[in-house]
Amino acid sequence: MKEIPFFNYPALFQQRKDEYLDVVHDVLSRGAYIMQKDLVNFENNLAKYLGIKHAIGVADGTMALLTSLIAVGIKEGDEVIVPSHTFIASAAAIHHAGAKIILADCQEDHLIDPVSITKLITPRTKVIMPVQLNGRIANMDAITQIAAENNLIIIEDSCQALGAKYKQQFAGTFGITGTFSFFPAKTLGCFGDGGAVVTNSDKVAAKIRMIRDHGRDPTDGKVKLFGFNCRLDNLQAAVLGLKLKYYDEDIDRRRNIARLYDIHLRPIRQILLPPAPESEVDHFDVFQNYEIEAQHRDELKIFLSEAGIGTILQWGGYAIHQFRELGFNSELKCTEEMTKKFMLLPLHSMLSDEDVIYICQKINEFYNSKIN
Ligand SMILES: *Cc1c(COP(=O)(O)O)cnc(C)c1O
Repeated sequence: MKEIPFFNYPALFQQRKDEYLDVVHDVLSRGAYIMQKDLVNFENNLAKYLGIKHAIGVADGTMALLTSLIAVGIKEGDEVIVPSHTFIASAAAIHHAGAKIILADCQEDHLIDPVSITKLITPRTKVIMPVQLNGRIANMDAITQIAAENNLIIIEDSCQALGAKYKQQFAGTFGITGTFSFFPAKTLGCFGDGGAVVTNSDKVAAKIRMIRDHGRDPTDGKVKLFGFNCRLDNLQAAVLGLKLKYYDEDIDRRRNIARLYDIHLRPIRQILLPPAPESEVDHFDVFQNYEIEAQHRDELKIFLSEAGIGTILQWGGYAIHQFRELGFNSELKCTEEMTKKFMLLPLHSMLSDEDVIYICQKINEFYNSKIN
């Protein structure tokens, strides 16, 4: 029997082992641990990749969101609209910034529904935080228009979408800031935690550079506000700098895997697939995840697990509004229905074509047995 874990953490290192060891050796030999040239180089290269003015390395994606909210002046009493189908980190950042979390519904592609956003706007709304989920960008034409009409700020949670494009524009470049996570299983993953904020605003960039380093202004070393210690590790930045060189190659591989899934799974009536690469002119998806909706989802999950295939339910199977312990009571119809059926299939650049075909065979086997 094959063993295909949902994500293969050891394989991440094996993929380019010698190059990683060279990078680690070089950084450690120089004693370059905190805010050294490797961080500066990575920030510059990330900004260049996205065609944006500033990239600021921070401790993780969650801090990228929190520092963004603080930098734009979000405070108690403000409301931030965010989709319910997201990682708790998006909501936690809003909570810790002191604002109120307003949860929006999703649409068929699992991303935030602009119609739902419109219904939630109040005089206290300050920010729309679209989440570019699963490596795909939400309908930013509609969202940008809603923001402009209502004088709202956009902060993009683009933690799952580095390199994704909507109408030729990169995820992370639509709002005042865009945020990225370099958690190991993310499309650009380091060997631990990492994150970044990107922005075209000099003012916001300068503020985030202070917030991430105890409130110190890097130009004169003086403390000018209360900050955090949430810098991106120089060692992780060096690893990320290396990985960024291979990034387009890795995304190509992900899109090829998605294509393969599409060919072999599209005929199955009982599952709904994400849009195939190249199926829509406006979207270039990077397939951080391959999120399907499956009938008999729980049975399928067990069946695949018995065949050695690891799958997961994003966020443990719950959208944020379903965490009633946190005080939420929204009714979100589309999200509600989706959480009953959604499931992630393995998708990362270390998978072979044979692995993907094996997974598809097993899924076909499962649904054939359902018919008889
Ligand atoms: C990964 C992720 C984050 C940030 O996660 P960290 O673990 O803090 O880097 C935020 N939002 C979404 C949607 C994510 O997937």
